[in-house]
Amino acid sequence: MNVNQQPHMASPYGQPQPGYQGYPQSGYGGQHVPGGYPAPYAPYNGPASAYQPGPPQGMRGPPTSGAPPVSAAQAYSQFGQGDIQNGPPPLGAPPQRSVFSQPFPTAAPPFSAPGPTQPPGPPLASQQTFPQAPPPSQPPFSSAPPQVPPASYGGPPPPVQASHPRAAPPTSQPAAFPGGPPPTSTPTQYTGPPMQQPPVSQPSSFHSGPPPPPTSAAGFPPQGGAPPRPPHPGIQGPPLASQGPPMSQANHVAPPQPGMLAGPPVPGMAGPPPQPGMQGYPPQQNGEYCRYSCCLSGSQASDIPPVQKTRHRIDPDAIPSPIQVIEDDKANKGSEPFVTGVRGQAPPLVTTNFHVKDQGNASPRFIRCTAYNIPCTSDMAKQSQVPLAAVIKPLATLPPDENSPYIVDHGESGPIRCNRCKAYMCPYMQFIEGGRRFQCGFCSCVTEVPPHYFQHLDHTGKRVDCYDRPELSLGSYEFLATVDYCKNNKIPQPPAFIFLIDVSYNAVKNGMVRIVCQELKTLLDYLPRENPDVQSNIRVGFATYNKVLHFYNVKASLAQPQMMVVSDVADMFVPLLDGFLVNVSESRVVIESLLDQIPDMFADTRETETVFGPVIQAGLEALKAADCAGKLFVFHTSLPIAEAPGKLKNREDKKLVGTDKEKSLFQPQVSFYANLAKECVAQGCCVDLFLFPNQYVDVATLGVVPTSTGGSVYKYTYFQAQSDQERFLNDLRKDIQKKVGFDAVMRVRTSTGIRATDFFGSFYMSNTTDVELAGLDCDKTVTVEFRHDDKLSEETGALMQCAVLYTSCSGQRRLRIHNMAVNCCAQLADLYRNCETDTIINFFAKYAYRCVLNNPTKNVRDSLVNQCAQILACYRKNCASPSSAGQLILPECMKLLPVYLNCVLKSDVLHPGADVSLDDRAYLRQLVSAMDVAESHVFFYPRLLPVHKLDVECDTLPVAIRDSEERLSKGGIYLLETGLNLFLWVGANAQQELLQNIFGTPAFGQIDSNMTSLPILDNPYSKRVREIVESFRAQRSRYMKLMVVKQEDKLELIFKHFLVEDKNNSGGASYVDFLCHMHKEIRQLLS
Ligand SMILES: [Zn+2]
Repeated sequence: MNVNQQPHMASPYGQPQPGYQGYPQSGYGGQHVPGGYPAPYAPYNGPASAYQPGPPQGMRGPPTSGAPPVSAAQAYSQFGQGDIQNGPPPLGAPPQRSVFSQPFPTAAPPFSAPGPTQPPGPPLASQQTFPQAPPPSQPPFSSAPPQVPPASYGGPPPPVQASHPRAAPPTSQPAAFPGGPPPTSTPTQYTGPPMQQPPVSQPSSFHSGPPPPPTSAAGFPPQGGAPPRPPHPGIQGPPLASQGPPMSQANHVAPPQPGMLAGPPVPGMAGPPPQPGMQGYPPQQNGEYCRYSCCLSGSQASDIPPVQKTRHRIDPDAIPSPIQVIEDDKANKGSEPFVTGVRGQAPPLVTTNFHVKDQGNASPRFIRCTAYNIPCTSDMAKQSQVPLAAVIKPLATLPPDENSPYIVDHGESGPIRCNRCKAYMCPYMQFIEGGRRFQCGFCSCVTEVPPHYFQHLDHTGKRVDCYDRPELSLGSYEFLATVDYCKNNKIPQPPAFIFLIDVSYNAVKNGMVRIVCQELKTLLDYLPRENPDVQSNIRVGFATYNKVLHFYNVKASLAQPQMMVVSDVADMFVPLLDGFLVNVSESRVVIESLLDQIPDMFADTRETETVFGPVIQAGLEALKAADCAGKLFVFHTSLPIAEAPGKLKNREDKKLVGTDKEKSLFQPQVSFYANLAKECVAQGCCVDLFLFPNQYVDVATLGVVPTSTGGSVYKYTYFQAQSDQERFLNDLRKDIQKKVGFDAVMRVRTSTGIRATDFFGSFYMSNTTDVELAGLDCDKTVTVEFRHDDKLSEETGALMQCAVLYTSCSGQRRLRIHNMAVNCCAQLADLYRNCETDTIINFFAKYAYRCVLNNPTKNVRDSLVNQCAQILACYRKNCASPSSAGQLILPECMKLLPVYLNCVLKSDVLHPGADVSLDDRAYLRQLVSAMDVAESHVFFYPRLLPVHKLDVECDTLPVAIRDSEERLSKGGIYLLETGLNLFLWVGANAQQELLQNIFGTPAFGQIDSNMTSLPILDNPYSKRVREIVESFRAQRSRYMKLMVVKQEDKLELIFKHFLVEDKNNSGGASYVDFLCHMHKEIRQLLS
C-alpha cells in the first residue's frame, strides 16, 4: 500500500466538487417510479393508472440522479409558504409551544368524518377495586366472605367485531366496536385476599426519610450488555439485614393473623358485597370491583423504604396482573383482523399478534395513541392529566402478509394538497360541487380539484374512484415527490455509507478491528437496495483513525489501495476526492485488499489516544464533497482525549448521583457536538456509533450526534471477541441492511382545535414544527404530544396527518403519509375507556428521560407519580361509582398503570443502583427516547417464559409469568427477555431429563454458565428452545445475547434486577408497595 503522508495540507476542497457526478443512473424518467415491479394493486379493482404499485417489501428501484449543492437551511416546499417558522432554538431545547400548525383556525368542517363516530358506548366496564382493609379510622368490615381463587378472573369474552366491506364505509354500530369494554354481563372479579389491618401507628413509620442509601451490596452490572461483573462476595442471597427482610419474602402474603380482616367479594356476586358505609354499588354496569386498602403511607414512591416484616397484607394475585391483561387481549383481539376504519377504536396490545386491514386510518404498527377518545376541551384534558400523544414509527416494517404503503404519483405538479394548511390528499378530504372542489378536513378550506384529478361523485357524495386510489381510502401511502420537494430543487444523489474505524491500541487488542474488517467484506454485498436483483447504488468509503485520520483511496483502477494520512485534525478535510467514495462492485478487489490489510497494518500499534470530533467531521466533509446524504458507521473505543476539536475530559463522578448536579451527567460536556450535529443534519449525514469501551467514554457527549441525526448508539462494554462478537455482528448486519431513508423532514398536521406541541426522539428541530432526521430507519419512532388550542367536536373528531419527506436508499424523493382520526369525547369516562397504557408509559418514560437533563431525578420521579395519581384520582372522582375512599378503583384500560409506572421509576436512568455506570444511564436514556411501544413495553416489563412448561408438540408458547421471584419454581427453567438481554434461569431442582435435553448434561452442577448459545442437540426440546430464542431475537431491533443463570449463582443478582415486581436493592419499590403508595397519593388528592 502506498502511504502518502500529508501532515499539514490545507483543505483544497471546501466547495462541492464536480467529480462525483455522472454515476450511471438508470431509468429515472421524470418523476415516475421506475417500473419493473408488476405487482398488481390487489385490493383495488379499478384502473390503477393514477398510481404505481409499491415495490414488495425489500425491493427497491433504481436510483435517480442529480446533484443538489450543499446548503444548510433548506426550505422544503412541503410546508408551504404560509407556515410559520421560527428561529432555531438551541439544540436539545424543547420546542416552543406557541406556534400554530393551523394558521387559520376556523369552524369545524360541516361534513362528517369518514369513519363512523363511536357511539356513546356502554357504561364503564371492568373497573377494578381491590379488596381492602379499612383505613385505621374506619370500622372494619364485619363480614369477610371466603376467599376466592384468582382464577375467577376469566376476562371478558371476545367482542363481536363487524367487518366493514370496502365498498361500504363503516356506519355507526355499537357492535363494531371491538376496542370497547367487555360486555357488562361478565362479572370478573379480583378476589380479595385476606388483609391485615394496618396498625394505626404504621403510617408514621413510613413518613420519614429517604430510602437507605444503596449499599455496596446493591450492585448490578449495567443493563446495556456489559459483561457481568460479579457482585460483591457474599451477596448472593438476600439483601443485607439492614435492608429489611430477605427479598424472597418481600412479597409474601403474611399469614392470617388475629386482627386481620378481609373483604373480598363473594364469588358470583354481581358486585362487591354490601359494606357498611359503602352503599350504592350499581349493578354490574361498571364491571367488577376489587378493592384493597392501602396500608402504606409516607414518602415518595420510589423512596419507599425496604419493606419491613409483616407489613404485607396484599395478595399479589389480587392486584392487576400484566400477564392476565396480555392474555385477555390475545384471546379477545388476536383472532380477528384489526380494521382501522372505525374511528376511536383502540387497537390490540403490542403483545398480541394480529393482522391489520387498513381502511382509512394508519395501522397501529405506524401510529399508536395514548388515547383514542380525546377530551373535547382543554379543561377536560387538564383535569384528567392523561397525556395526549402519538408514537409514530413512519417507516415501520410490516409483516409479510400486510402490504407496504402503495406509491401514488400525482404527476408533474406533485401531490394534491389543501391550499391553505398544505395537508395532503387523504380520506378526510370531502369532495363537493360535483367533484370540482374539495374541503379540507384539517382546516376546512375549499380547494379546486385540478382537471387531471377530477372525478365524478356517486350518490353518496363519494368519488367513484375512491377505492381505486390509496390516498382516498387508506390510512397510509406514499407520494412520489417532485423536484420541488428536493433540496435546492435538485434530484438527490444516491446516498453513501462511510466506515470509520478506530485503530488505537484497545481497538486492535480486543479484536474489534479484525472483526469489523472481516465482516465488511461480506456485508458490502447487502447494502440497502429497492430491488434485490439490482445492485445497491449506495457508494462506500473507508477511513481509520487514532490520533490522526487515515483515508483510503480504493478507486477501481488502482492495483492497491492508497492511504493518505491527515494529522492536522484541527481543521478536518478530506484529502482525496476521486477514489474515496466508490461503487462496491467496481472497486471490490481494491476494497477487499484494504480490509485484509488494515488489521495487520495496525497490529503493533502502541497508540492509545483517539480523536472523535474530527472523525465525524471527516465523514461529513466527504458527503459534502460528494454532494449526497448518507450514513457514517463509527467504530470507537475510548474517551477522545487527544488534542483536537471535541476533545473530552474524564468527568465521571458518581458522587453526583442523587444530588442536584446529577443532571449534568446526562448533558454533553461541550457544545461542540451539538453544533456538529446541526451541520450533519443540514447535509443529511446520519451517524451510527458502535462503542467498545473498557471504561468511561462519556456516552452523554459522544451520543449527541447520533441522537440528533436519527442515528443509533450501540455499546459493547468490555468487548471480548469470543463472547461478544455474535451480538456485535448481528447488530451490525441488521443496522447496515435495514430500510432507511435520508434527509427526512417530518411534519404533523392536525385538525382545528389541537396541535402538535412537543416531540421526542432522535432528531433535530430548527423550528417548532419540522422534525428533521438526517436518517430515518424502520426502527425509529417519533413521539408527538398534542395540546388543545380550541374546543373539539364530538361529531368530527380530531384528525392528524404525519407527512415524512425523505430520500429512499436509491435516491428517490418520496413523501410517506400516515393519517389518523380519533374520537373526541365530552365525557371523561369515554377517555378512560379508550386509552392505551403501554403507549402512555412509552410517553411518560420519554418525557421523564428528557426531564432528567434539566431536573434532579427525584423531582422527575415525584412529578411522574403525581401526574399518574391525578389521572387515577380524576377517574375515581368523575367516573367511578361512589365508594369508600379506602378503596382503590382503577379504570380497566389503566389498571396496569401503577405497575408499569413503577418499572419506569425504578429504571436505571431514574433510580440507579450503585453499580450502574454513568455511561449506561446515558446510553439507556438515549435508547429509550426513540423506542416504539413494543420495545418499551418489554424493556420496562420483561417477558418471563416458563420453558419447562413448553409443549414441544405445539407451536404456541407457554403463558408468560409475572416478573417476581416468588413466581419462579426451583424445578423450573425460565427465559427472560428485556429487548436488550436474554437470560435462561435454571432452577436448582430442574428435572434431569430437561437439563439433558437442553444443555446436554443431566447435572445442574455441570451446566456451564459461561455459554452464550445453547448446544445443538438432537431432540425436540433442544430444537424448540433454540427456536424460541431465535424468534425472540428476530422480534427485536437489537441482538440479545443469551446468558445462562443458575439458581444461587453469582449472576443471579443481575437476573433478579429484571424481576420488576419485586423491590430491588437500590431502593425501588415492589409492585405491591408502590400500589399502596399510589393509593395513598390518590386519596390525598381526593380528600
Ligand atoms: Zn387544509
